[in-house]
Amino acid sequence: MQIIKGKTGWIEVICGPMFSGKSEELIRRLRRAEIARQRVQIFKHVIDARYDSDNIVSHSCQSLPSVAVSAAADILARIDDRTELVAIDEAQFFDAELVAVCDRLANQGKRIIVAGLDLDYRGVPFGPMPHLICRAEYVTKQLAICMVCGDPAGFTQRLTPSRDQIQVGATGMYEARCRHHFEAPASQGEE
Ligand code: ADP
Repeated sequence: MQIIKGKTGWIEVICGPMFSGKSEELIRRLRRAEIARQRVQIFKHVIDARYDSDNIVSHSCQSLPSVAVSAAADILARIDDRTELVAIDEAQFFDAELVAVCDRLANQGKRIIVAGLDLDYRGVPFGPMPHLICRAEYVTKQLAICMVCGDPAGFTQRLTPSRDQIQVGATGMYEARCRHHFEAPASQGEE
């Protein structure tokens, strides 16, 4: 990805299934921004207390401090005007207003990096992610490794019987699957 730096801001989306390295890639980009001495603010959704409520954490245990918020408007309320880069992890959990918040901040000249699951456990587009992908200047789709066959995996297989769209957890509750081995749950008309 080649990014030309000018006065305008932009939106980058990092998407893919669980275990595909979204958080690792987000942390990599943030570490480089810190080396460049950019002013950075990092947010994640409060619902993701998977490892830590104050940090974004990858499955490989890399982490960076973040602020947990419960709504997209909370991000806007906490933005420092001087901030150059705004990062948002677990973006799929946010309300639809996240799209407008990211647009507004990018229009102010900031670099926005959003990481999140593009598909839920049913293989259905997740929360604000499809709209964010359409609005973004740069989209990176990551793939994991299918736990059945070892091929590239674009889906997140839920291993428990829960039917809630949001069921926070990691190893043991979910695994990455390729399209051949992903088994979507039978439709029950739930959202
Ligand atoms: P994500 O944010 O997309 O859930 P993370 O960045 O937190 O992913 O974690 C990626 C790491 O997860 C990999 O570097 C690897 O160490 C580990 N991992 C565990 N299971 C898998 C898998 N099936 N495919 C790829 N990486 C996996």
